[in-house]
Amino acid sequence: MRIDIVTLFPELCGSFLNASILGRAAKKGLFEAHCHQIRDYTTNKQRQTDDYPYGGGCGMVLYAQPIADCLRAVTAQCEAQGRGKPHVVFLTAAGAPYNEQKARELAGYEAVTLVCGHYEGIDERVIEAFADEEISIGDYVLTGGELASLVVADSVLRLQPGVLAEEKGYQEESYWDGLIEYPQYTRPEVWEGRAIPPVLLTGDHQKIDAWRAQQSKARTRARRPDLYETWCETHPLTVPKWKRGENARLIKTEEQLDAAAAIYHAAWQQMTADTTTQEYRDAHTVAVMREELVNDRKNGWALYLHTTAGRPDGLVGVLHKTGEVGRLYVAPAAQGQGIGAKLLDFARKKLPEQEHPHLLVLNVNKPARALYIRMGWRPAGVQRYFTGPECTVQPVYEELFQF
Ligand code: SAM
Repeated sequence: MRIDIVTLFPELCGSFLNASILGRAAKKGLFEAHCHQIRDYTTNKQRQTDDYPYGGGCGMVLYAQPIADCLRAVTAQCEAQGRGKPHVVFLTAAGAPYNEQKARELAGYEAVTLVCGHYEGIDERVIEAFADEEISIGDYVLTGGELASLVVADSVLRLQPGVLAEEKGYQEESYWDGLIEYPQYTRPEVWEGRAIPPVLLTGDHQKIDAWRAQQSKARTRARRPDLYETWCETHPLTVPKWKRGENARLIKTEEQLDAAAAIYHAAWQQMTADTTTQEYRDAHTVAVMREELVNDRKNGWALYLHTTAGRPDGLVGVLHKTGEVGRLYVAPAAQGQGIGAKLLDFARKKLPEQEHPHLLVLNVNKPARALYIRMGWRPAGVQRYFTGPECTVQPVYEELFQF
């Protein structure tokens, strides 16, 4: 691969590309990097590269001509090497947001040219004439495109075969699989009283991989719910097999209703802890919530109690007349064992007459949304907003999900 950077500061860019991992890789001939001085392509006596903006305003704008001539020269060089026309990227604060997926896409070109603006930017006409795309490295403004072009060059060049010692190196890193990376540790085993997670000392690679995968998922869910949701869409969950001694039975007795109310109360309190006031949660006693379940049944809901070895630990309901699934709750102590996934699958199969069963979920209930998405349910619109004083975060709204 060949990368060209068109800039007013070629030495600055060159010194970065010649250092460390990229510098060693370039010496080995794993890629070519060239930095071009825009000033060398000026045609005026003063070798001026910028001028006042038409229409007034502060700052200076880079001329179109030197950049255009520099890009033509780069294209000619690439063609002389038999590479064809390079893919031209202008680094601009107004460009499309940059990410690992874009880095992978750019890494597939034989030649990429990165154009750096400066001052107030670049005459728009040269962008229109030459840009294959515009990229921004984040929602902030830099003084020039050099750092941005180096960010792009670094993330693209490290993906070239042989640049990193092992391909696994980048395959395990943040964003590769759409998740952020698990935490890393090195010696000493205990640093200032902080020990490393014991699993890393077991030597059991299956266990270590499982721990890392779980950390990666949990961190992404907590820190980047947007990324996690996208990951869920492409990583369907296989419904775990029902274990021996595991059952879901239609609630018929008062005793079953008591058990269901206790699960509903505990799981609901946990679910709403970060988004509602204590006062609001306190008003939702077990008795109040039991009454809700009684009313559900009066309104036609079929409620099922899940038990493991006779111990009640989950609840789900279906309303045949509308095709709705609801009241899906797993007792806090039984969470993380796949009961939610099994009950959701169970409930959907109880509605074979419905082409598109649906359910309602709060936007703030991230774990539930992630489960639904991984089980093939998709958001189908906002149902209603909750703006009352009991909400400690905003916006809170109920979303419709459809299978
Ligand atoms: N007037 C421009 C605007 O408001 O969008 C900002 C110009 S900025 C001061 C100068 C140059 O820095 C830009 O032409 C661009 O090349 C580069 N630049 C600034 N922020 C950037 C970002 N977030 N991503 C990529 N390049 C950026």
